[in-house]
Amino acid sequence: MAEESDAVEQQAERVSTEEDKMSEEEKLFVLPGDLVGTTEEFTAGKGTYVDVGDIHSIGTGYVHIDRKARVISVVPKTATPPELCEGDIVIGGITNLRDSVVLVDIGGIKGKGDREFQMNGPAAIHVSNVRDSYVKNLGQEFAMSDIVKAKVINTQNMRLSTSEKSLGVMKAYCSKCRTALELDGNRLKCPACGRTEKRKISSDYGTGIF
Ligand code: ZN
Repeated sequence: MAEESDAVEQQAERVSTEEDKMSEEEKLFVLPGDLVGTTEEFTAGKGTYVDVGDIHSIGTGYVHIDRKARVISVVPKTATPPELCEGDIVIGGITNLRDSVVLVDIGGIKGKGDREFQMNGPAAIHVSNVRDSYVKNLGQEFAMSDIVKAKVINTQNMRLSTSEKSLGVMKAYCSKCRTALELDGNRLKCPACGRTEKRKISSDYGTGIF
């Protein structure tokens, strides 16, 4: 908005002018690492980090300034999380193991970037969607903290599947000593203590290919 029109409208529409100012500030777009302010001016809020008195943006997004509280933050590029579609490939961590289902905290969607992605709740892999064959014991397929690659098969109740070859556990840790497990045939082996463990292993295990 131009300065002149601001002055004209200032008295008549004081409130709406304030709002306009606010939304213009929110449109200042920054990239990861960009300088957004200093700790002399502001308190570092969400989406920022402080480096020797300078406040930088952690991710990609829009600068937001709370003038009252003097807090500067960066709102992720997508105000609403990117929508998950059936068929999307996601990556996430196992946060809960139950009898018939494991819960996954999704950290990213393939092709949509992972930095600005947020989820309200976990997704689930039902025992029937782990493999294309029968699975009796989920404890033989996944463990807590495993990183898994999975396909979204139902967005209504956030169901995932790992039945395809490339899907499944991408990274796992020894349940005894927490060392990252290495591929050893169709099992995983701990290079530190020698323990072997079973998983529904992705064909991309250990490659970091997402
Ligand atoms: Zn071990």
